[in-house]
Amino acid sequence: MQGNTHIVGGITASLAFAQFSNDNPLVLVGAGVIGALLPDICHRGSKIGRTFPIIAKLVNTVFGHRSFTHSLLFLLLVMLVLHTLIPYRAISIGVIVGMASHIVLDMCTKKGVKLFFPASVSIRFPLTTKTGSKVEGIVLMLLSMLSIYLSYELIARFIYSI
Ligand SMILES: [Zn+2]
Repeated sequence: MQGNTHIVGGITASLAFAQFSNDNPLVLVGAGVIGALLPDICHRGSKIGRTFPIIAKLVNTVFGHRSFTHSLLFLLLVMLVLHTLIPYRAISIGVIVGMASHIVLDMCTKKGVKLFFPASVSIRFPLTTKTGSKVEGIVLMLLSMLSIYLSYELIARFIYSI
């Protein structure tokens, strides 16, 4: 999936999470976007890969694309590091929710993801699409509409609470 789809996916997932939590929704969404971009550090052409080209090259050489950084193991490691270093819950949770949204979206592509790395099996949904295809455009549109609806719900809840 393309960077923009992942960004909107991260926004949608963190807004959905915000409906059920008392964490600051703005912090959740900001952290969610960072989390949604993070797994593609394994790919030099990605948004985050272009920002940190040396790290991206290193990760790509060692692990390959959609491997370690798209796995439950990486998710767990990031969770541990954030839990240790960042005392603010909304940031840690937002990043994890964003990362999870990224992995789920990439599971909608033919290549799938190495979810259970170091096991080499690729995991994907039964129905998949190509990166940059028309279907991805439709997914992006639906996610955008969903995130507008979820924002509206949050704003309405905020207004009723004052
Ligand atoms: Zn990816």
